[in-house]
Amino acid sequence: MSARIDLHLHTTASDGTLSPAELLALVAENGIALMAVTDHDTLAGYRELAAMGTGQVQLLCGIEWSARWSGGEVHVVGLGMDPQAPALQATIDRQQALRPERASRMAERLAKCGIADALAGASAIAAGGSIGRVHFARYLVQCGVVHSEDEAFRRYLGDGARAHVRCEWPMLDEVIAWTQAAGGVAVLAHPMKYRLTRTKLAGLMAEFAEAGGDAVEWPLFPAGQQKDTQRWLAKQLRSHGLGLSVGSDFHGQDSRWNRPGKVAQVLPEGIEPVWSRWLPVDGVASP
Ligand code: AMP
Ligand code: MN
Ligand code: MN
Ligand code: MN
Repeated sequence: MSARIDLHLHTTASDGTLSPAELLALVAENGIALMAVTDHDTLAGYRELAAMGTGQVQLLCGIEWSARWSGGEVHVVGLGMDPQAPALQATIDRQQALRPERASRMAERLAKCGIADALAGASAIAAGGSIGRVHFARYLVQCGVVHSEDEAFRRYLGDGARAHVRCEWPMLDEVIAWTQAAGGVAVLAHPMKYRLTRTKLAGLMAEFAEAGGDAVEWPLFPAGQQKDTQRWLAKQLRSHGLGLSVGSDFHGQDSRWNRPGKVAQVLPEGIEPVWSRWLPVDGVASP
């Protein structure tokens, strides 16, 4: 890939730790030509950067939708929407209303576990951003209840853990439709992070394609490993006519996250990269 691209990045508008301006500085430092701010269920971080201007870096409107699929939760990255599209902000407002509701219920569960004031604590950490489990995890670390955010997810916040609350997110096909109605493309985020069997994951990608989904985020296979999985995934994408996207899913500068621009550089052949519609031809992938 000749140009540097990162189409999955978080800011303090959701659960990232850098402000939009701080993120832009880091993105520019890493030589990225095309970026998308994709905060969870909000465009606030994108809007702030768009208003500021991003200089040499081309900025795409982005979002990471939370959605329901087969009793679990999956994420869909929407890219290149028109931020002024009618209905888009109303849809986001509806999605946003679900988060404080879930937060209150999580705090009630945590209180039953003997952890007081979690709603106030997590809200203070979210500081007006799209409140989520990461803010609770940081609060639990702050209180000394757990040693790490990872432990907070394992013991309290993760799927099936003591304070986990199932959220009535919209269905997969709905978030795809919202994205496309606003002129964007719908990308299934981090397919290998759902801890699904191959059969389940194949089912998810088939349904995603059937619902009109456009592309799948191509994972950063460490040092080109898991060749067999790479071949399998590429075959899935080709058979469903899905394109691909890349993104670091950067949330902050601690060791758990890849830095902006740390995305797969070698991409499977014969699969359309979503960014070919936004980058000039010489920036298109050439694996
Ligand atoms: P939410 O959107 O509020 O359900 O939170 C989901 C977010 O939690 C993901 O986007 C990650 O940023 C974060 N997350 C998920 N699992 C873990 C984990 N084990 N440790 C730390 N952060 C996690
Ligand atoms: Mn997150
Ligand atoms: Mn995600
Ligand atoms: Mn993400």
